[in-house]
Amino acid sequence: MIIAVIFLATDAEYEKLIDSAFKSMPNLSEENIDFRIPEADSIVQGSKTLLRNFSQIAEVARRDKKELMNYLTKELGAHLILDEGRLVISGKVNAEELNLKIKKFFEMYVICKECNKPDTHTESVERGFATIVCEACGARYSVKYY
Ligand SMILES: [Zn+2]
Repeated sequence: MIIAVIFLATDAEYEKLIDSAFKSMPNLSEENIDFRIPEADSIVQGSKTLLRNFSQIAEVARRDKKELMNYLTKELGAHLILDEGRLVISGKVNAEELNLKIKKFFEMYVICKECNKPDTHTESVERGFATIVCEACGARYSVKYY
C-alpha cells in the first residue's frame, strides 16, 4: 500500500515526504553538545605569555603539538618555545586573543565541516593544503594550511 502511494504521488508531494523524513532526524550538532573547544589558561609574565594548558589543547584537538605551534606562530607572529607542556610565547598576548586563535584552529582543522564532530585527523599536508579526514562521517576535504 505504501509503495503504491509513493508511486502515485506527484513530485511536489514526494519532496514533502522527503522533507518530513529529514525533519524527524536528530540534529547532529546537538548530539555533539558535550564537546567544548578548550579555553586558554594563560598568564602574562613580564614580556612573555605562558599558555599553561597547551598540551591539553593539543590533546583535545588530537593534533601534534608541532602542528598547533606552527599555526600559533603564524597567527600570533610570535616566537614560541615548548616548556614541559606549557607554551612560552614571546610578547604579551591576552587570553581573549589566544581563545580566538584556538577557536579558529578548531573550526578550521578539527571540527568536521560535514558533521560538526571533532573526530578528525590530518591525513597529509601538500603544497600548502592539509587533507582532513573525519572518522565519524568519512568526509575528506582540503584546508589551506600553514
Ligand atoms: Zn564528519
